Amino acid sequence: MLHVFALSIILLGTILLLFSLGPVNHIYKTDNNAGWRVLRALVLFFIAGYLGVSYYFFLQSSLNAADVMVSTIMFAGACFVALVVRFSLSSLNKLEQSAAAERSNALHDSLTGLPNRKFLMDCLQEHIDARRYFSLLILDLNRFKQINDALGHYVGDLLLIRVGQKLKQALPSDIQLFRLGGDEFAIVSTKDESAHTRHIVDIIHHSLETTFEIEDYELSVSASIGVTHFPENGQSIGVLLQQGDLAMYASKKHSNLYTEYDESLESGAAEKVHIAAQLKEAISLEKFELWYQPIIDLSTNSIHGAEALLRWPQADGSYIAPDKFIKVAEQSALINRITEWVMQRVSEDIESFSGSGLELCIHINLSVKDLQDPMIVSKVRKVLTKHAMKDHKLMLEVTESAMMTDIAQVKNTMQQISEAGLVFSIDDFGTGYSSLALLRDLPVGQIKIDRSFIRNIANSNADLAIVKSTIYLAQNLGCNIVAEGVEDAETANLLTDLGCDFVQGYYYSKPQRRDDFVYFVQQYDQQSAVLLVK
Ligand code: C2E
Ligand code: CA
Ligand code: CA
Repeated sequence: MLHVFALSIILLGTILLLFSLGPVNHIYKTDNNAGWRVLRALVLFFIAGYLGVSYYFFLQSSLNAADVMVSTIMFAGACFVALVVRFSLSSLNKLEQSAAAERSNALHDSLTGLPNRKFLMDCLQEHIDARRYFSLLILDLNRFKQINDALGHYVGDLLLIRVGQKLKQALPSDIQLFRLGGDEFAIVSTKDESAHTRHIVDIIHHSLETTFEIEDYELSVSASIGVTHFPENGQSIGVLLQQGDLAMYASKKHSNLYTEYDESLESGAAEKVHIAAQLKEAISLEKFELWYQPIIDLSTNSIHGAEALLRWPQADGSYIAPDKFIKVAEQSALINRITEWVMQRVSEDIESFSGSGLELCIHINLSVKDLQDPMIVSKVRKVLTKHAMKDHKLMLEVTESAMMTDIAQVKNTMQQISEAGLVFSIDDFGTGYSSLALLRDLPVGQIKIDRSFIRNIANSNADLAIVKSTIYLAQNLGCNIVAEGVEDAETANLLTDLGCDFVQGYYYSKPQRRDDFVYFVQQYDQQSAVLLVK
């Protein structure tokens, strides 16, 4: 009986050891640690030993208590080895799972769950290494920033999640969708057919056509898409991403369904880089000039003031137009330094105008970046106190879209500035996302109707109707009104009849250098007599 018992548990121990060999091998392969190799050799050695002892017991006619004790200890040893190996395997599996989850987190965007920029880089590198054709589409949502700013980041985040889901569902499964950050997505397709790109673009636009119901809002979004291809256009990830961005910006600018990258897009970008580099130097060396364009008071036909307009002279005598360099400056903090310089120069000029007996109201253009500048209020206050100016001599022009970028913050800034005594004018009125709520909620004292509406009022009933109702609206809101871009007498007379307060335009004068402007104002009394009888 003792014989059978001892033999059975040793054989059972041998079986346990045999079963441990599999997991030990697996762990060794995964962990590649020499310790596990030693353990495997030991297990094999034990198995041989256990078999030897079994054979020895088998040959004995009887076993004593010590033999039974030995076989029990051997069985316990085998159990111990089997348990240690099993537990080690299960902890290793858990570690592997959490490492895999971490790898996946590092490659996925936490908000939308979509593959992220890092994943895109890995994927593009894999295609490039394999010399496999692919199209890269960069997609940016239009006006997302406005939604985010106006309705809050919570709604903005929900919208991004929904857009991500919608696009993922709509795109075929062999096409990969990534979120690059913010409202930017990327799509990679390895199908080498030009019709295929168009097909993907159609899917994207089609899937964004429906409105997204988020909280209590019905939101609609659209996308600008830029496309580039490997290997035709670029050979490296950095170049291809840049090309996709350039094409996407071109698509946004021209409101195209999509833009294919081509070299002609580069010239604009190269020019921008060149301008940005030159701008820094121009600001440090104060190479700008301020020109003044008169603003006429229609009720008295006298010069009420002027708009200060930047000019950037070049060595060859030409000028770079503000339309070109202001946008570049707005892409960095350079614009804030420019505005500071303009405010300083304007306040000095106002003093010098006063010295010549001219009490003029000067308009300064503020950029969206100025309204976001946390120092703007103190900068304005500093200029006002330093030059002890009377408040009504300085007016700040801001476009509607600049006001729309972060309404709560802009409102606060505008209120503080207007409490300091300055008046705001809404520039290019009618061209942005005009909102009557803006007029009601923001401290605005003047509306400047954009010249695109003024140009044709003598011939277009629609433009005339818009101008008439804008004047009516302004009057009822207690704002005064300026019409810009007045180029002929007929338009000027029509605006006088409509009750417009001020006019500005080439008919009266183009922007002029400061000294020419002073001379123009001093001479204007005689000219005004002529204008009045026109
Ligand atoms: P804006 O604020 O709408 O300025 C009026 C622009 O219209 C000026 O162009 C002016 O020369 C032009 N203009 C005036 N009257 C007429 C007219 O009768 N017919 C036509 N066709 N055009 C007329 P400019 O000086 O080239 O300025 C362009 C834009 O650059 C300005 O548009 C403004 O947005 C920006 N800008 C100019 N100076 C500054 C500045 O100091 N700071 C900032 N942030 N922006 C500025
Ligand atoms: Ca302006
Ligand atoms: Ca304007």
